[in-house]
Amino acid sequence: MGGFDICDTASDGRGCARLELLVGRAYGRVIIQDHNYSMKAVWLEDNKLSYRTDAPMIEPGPQEALVKISLAGICATDLELIKGYYPYCGIAGHEFVGSIVQAPDQPERVGERVVGEINISCGVCPTCLAGRRSHCPRRTVMGIVNRQGAFAEYVCLPLANLIRVPDTVSDDAAVFVEPLAAALEIRKQIPITAADRVLVLGAGRLGQLIARSLIPTGCHLKVAARYEKQQRLLAQNNVHIIVEQAISENAFDIVIEATGSPEGFFLAQKAVRPRGTLVLKSTYRGDIQVNLSSIVVDELTLVGSRCGPFMPALALLESGRVDPTGLIDARYPLDKALEAFDHAAQAGILKVILEVA
Ligand SMILES: [Zn+2]
Ligand SMILES: [Zn+2]
Repeated sequence: MGGFDICDTASDGRGCARLELLVGRAYGRVIIQDHNYSMKAVWLEDNKLSYRTDAPMIEPGPQEALVKISLAGICATDLELIKGYYPYCGIAGHEFVGSIVQAPDQPERVGERVVGEINISCGVCPTCLAGRRSHCPRRTVMGIVNRQGAFAEYVCLPLANLIRVPDTVSDDAAVFVEPLAAALEIRKQIPITAADRVLVLGAGRLGQLIARSLIPTGCHLKVAARYEKQQRLLAQNNVHIIVEQAISENAFDIVIEATGSPEGFFLAQKAVRPRGTLVLKSTYRGDIQVNLSSIVVDELTLVGSRCGPFMPALALLESGRVDPTGLIDARYPLDKALEAFDHAAQAGILKVILEVA
């Protein structure tokens, strides 16, 4: 297969490179001479989604693999991207499970069923060398920052980002690895013990996974859930539910804010005790006004929390101690992706899955 590099000046002048050129720039190489095969993909541009059948086929660069996507999950970040949370232009999506179909540098990996770490870091800058690769200033992030995403028939990722899925973990469970890893990041950042009173605000896609990931700590866990289905799923996992009106002031050692709303932040600040820890697990659209003095006076610890480790998340799925498949509310084929997004944006809807292959 032939390909060629495209220079960095590829842009149509509207702040968004044309489809062919953007994909080319992200990957270095695109099969352009041979237009016999285009792939299907969900394209985001100017905060609008479209389903396209003319995305150019890609091929892996050095130390990369071509992955055929089986399932992809729609998450809150994707919905926020449409609202303009980050000026991304390109193929969206970052939660997936698929199979390696090409790996020129490690052909023995062809056929592996994999999930993929979404941050692609340079590996050589001081931040990477210090072990903070997910904060590499030169990183790209699949489907979010300068890197083609998973809502497509194929995606290319570095081989180092692709992790084999154990045979006992189904595709339906594996597609949750990325958000489950993000949930587990909290336990990596702060110690949570059986003595801690922990409140999770928000019982949507992420809040549900956070609650499940905290059960093994044995902590005194309460989750604020508004919708009947959210409450039922938590009850099935023996998680205590609390209504927002019943949340008392200063009643929790640790509060995890997973609503991404200003109201959620203020409630979290009220619920945490002095010298307690407030974990912010959602991004907030726009700015929110916070009384910082009260954080100083109460000597709160604020912890921002983003992506997490894939291996412990896969291990948790393999052990059967966390089964996220009950969170799937709907499944759509890739060509019905726009309907799938409308469905995922409805209040109280948990996970909507795209079936690609
Ligand atoms: Zn996500
Ligand atoms: Zn780096």
